Amino acid sequence: MQIPGHIDPVTTGTVPLRGGNRVDLVGLTREGVRAALEEAGLDAKAAKLRAKQIWHWIYHRGVTDFDAMTDIAKAMRPWLTERFIVGRPTVREAQLSNDGTRKWLLAAADGQEYEMVFIPDADRGTLCVSSQVGCTLNCRFCHTGTMRLVRNLTAGEIVGQVLLARDALGEWPKGNMAGGDQDDDEAGHYTADGRMLTNIVMMGMGEPLYNFDEVKGALKIVMDGDGLALSKRRITLSTSGVVPMMARAGEEIGVNLAVSLHAVSKEIRDEIVPLNRKYGIEELLEACAAYPGANNARRITFEYVMLKDKNDSDADARELVRLIKQYRLPAKVNLIPFNPWPGAPYECSSPERVRAFSNLIFEAGISAPVRTPRGRDIMAACGQLKSAATRPSRAELDRIAAEKQAALG
Ligand code: SAH
Ligand code: SF4
Repeated sequence: MQIPGHIDPVTTGTVPLRGGNRVDLVGLTREGVRAALEEAGLDAKAAKLRAKQIWHWIYHRGVTDFDAMTDIAKAMRPWLTERFIVGRPTVREAQLSNDGTRKWLLAAADGQEYEMVFIPDADRGTLCVSSQVGCTLNCRFCHTGTMRLVRNLTAGEIVGQVLLARDALGEWPKGNMAGGDQDDDEAGHYTADGRMLTNIVMMGMGEPLYNFDEVKGALKIVMDGDGLALSKRRITLSTSGVVPMMARAGEEIGVNLAVSLHAVSKEIRDEIVPLNRKYGIEELLEACAAYPGANNARRITFEYVMLKDKNDSDADARELVRLIKQYRLPAKVNLIPFNPWPGAPYECSSPERVRAFSNLIFEAGISAPVRTPRGRDIMAACGQLKSAATRPSRAELDRIAAEKQAALG
């Protein structure tokens, strides 16, 4: 069935190489790095050894320059530099919110733009990662869904966001990178201090389950014990409800699942999350009940955006509780105050309404915290991401701020 406004994302094969004819090693599997080295002329044994070393430098030390890979023979480093690069997305713009949230507008090698957001908290630092440029699913409350240009990001572009964030936060293990010739034993030379980036959420631009292979490849690299080594328990993938891919996500990636439910009736969910016309609420909740790895210790998060007079009544809250119980879901609910953007057709529910809604769910024994909006002043909050060409001007941002002020006063 055709979903209104739905278009297929362009496949990833068309992205030009950033380093000219050189191969970008970021985003390749370990095996892929080994194969690339072998193809370039190393024998099998050398390729295996060098791949292991390079992997460690790229993902554990954050090194982008082969000359700094001090345990690789000096003579070999220019040979690598001629043939390979360790790429990063280009930073077009970096913004800092008055609440500490940071947003980066990034550009891929082909000029396509996407955003990533870092949200610092007292006990954690969360990186919100994009999976596509734009999104093909036009959820009516989401700014990203209004973008027309869409392509899938490659695994390299997805994992590149994490690498870039660690660059920007200055939290690669520090140490004696310059000194030494070969065999620079890292032990004792650096410490893995200052963990700012502790969690990853696939909640930036795009629908991750419509770009399954690249997202899976990227997250496998992020979880690899010899590199970034982030635990699957610290990674959450959010889907608007691509039912046929949910079981595979659980089995093959194994990260925490968040589901953008947002409504409890067919009528309203069809309107605000058009994908519901293809995969309805019952089907979605059955897939949640079957999600591999979900249990009381690892609950599924249901995201629920609070839209004034649309999905925020007491009856809606009660129905939400009923559904969670009917399907026996190990669930928590995350209530997201609607984040406005220019031209959005909805308003956010009042704080009192949000509180009453949350209380009704809590009283039924289900956790239902309200997500504090972060980075609204730089359009970094949930659903506000959109690439530069159509970003709001400073004047528009001021108008939004003024409206917010008026609503409060
Ligand atoms: N495409 C995926 C993940 C990205 S969106 C998904 O839809 O789940 C991350 C979360 O922000 C989703 O729950 C999404 O529904 C929500 N969101 C989108 N626009 C929003 C807005 N304007 N205000 C608040 N939340 C929004
Ligand atoms: Fe796409 Fe998610 Fe936005 Fe819907 S909410 S348009 S699925 S990014």
